[in-house]
Amino acid sequence: MLVVARNITRSYAAQPVLSPLNLTIESGERLAIIGETGSGKTTLLKCLAGLLDLQSGEILFEGERVKGPREVLLPGHPSICYLSQAVDLRNHYRVEDLLERHSIQALENDQQLAGLCRVDHLLTRKTDQLSGGEKQRIALAIELSKQPKLLLLDEPFAHLDMGHRSTLRQVLDDLHEQNGLTQVIVSHNPTEILGWADRILVMKKGVCVQAGNPVEIYERPIDAYVAQLLGPFNELPLETGQDPVILRPERFRLVEAGTGSLIGIIRKKQYEGSGMLYAVESNDVTYWIKDHDAGHPIGREVGIFVDTTTFK
Ligand code: ADP
Repeated sequence: MLVVARNITRSYAAQPVLSPLNLTIESGERLAIIGETGSGKTTLLKCLAGLLDLQSGEILFEGERVKGPREVLLPGHPSICYLSQAVDLRNHYRVEDLLERHSIQALENDQQLAGLCRVDHLLTRKTDQLSGGEKQRIALAIELSKQPKLLLLDEPFAHLDMGHRSTLRQVLDDLHEQNGLTQVIVSHNPTEILGWADRILVMKKGVCVQAGNPVEIYERPIDAYVAQLLGPFNELPLETGQDPVILRPERFRLVEAGTGSLIGIIRKKQYEGSGMLYAVESNDVTYWIKDHDAGHPIGREVGIFVDTTTFK
């Protein structure tokens, strides 16, 4: 195990933010952390990186305790890279000089790294002549030149346009394929993490409420809180007295009124690229239904087919 966090707690002014949290990260794993704003995701990343002191508990990295800023001269574990979403590069430096200043590896390796991070064409630029996405990939290259074993990225895609997003995603994929680098990402965007993560950890009020692979978290969330973090969902009362089953819009189909297990009226529709998302009202409940047939008009009476077979 690369990282083991045991019963870690952290508060700000007597307000508990992590309370208490357990977590393990395997070497080579890609872990996504999701949760509502204020659930403690950034605090967790900073604790893992040795940038925040714990109140109690301990974090082991390769079997050794990660020391907090109070215990060391320079805060931050040397083998752990933490990159916040607000990347700040020193102004008026040439990119290659900045990289060389921080790097602990040979120039040749830095050049390779610049290629991998898609910033090799920017090496002679000054840091104030770069776009946000370029700055971020340069900051990443600088951190990687310190040869970390664990990469912690706090909402890395948050301020990027689609082009820069897919470039960064490619860089992260290459880092994983070529170096097997362990990566942890905090993100709000389902499309970015579902296809990327090996495992998703869901946080709520400083604790982990569910962890599992993307299919488990998306298809079998333990409750509505977890479900809403990854997109629209429906709660279907299958048997009286039992908790409703959570089903995604893709588990439903619109069929002819009179067939299917429910009947309803289309109240809204919105195009989603991969299909049309319909809001269908049935017995005072609104169901979100994803259907490839975009032609159903608002107001039409339709049947609803529900696929309740468990997605494996
Ligand atoms: P998230 O990343 O999930 O949005 P954070 O870890 O940033 O959550 O914050 C968790 C809680 O801790 C929030 O309620 C936030 O207001 C509080 N918090 C974070 N940093 C500080 C700080 N430096 N001082 C006081 N409270 C803080």
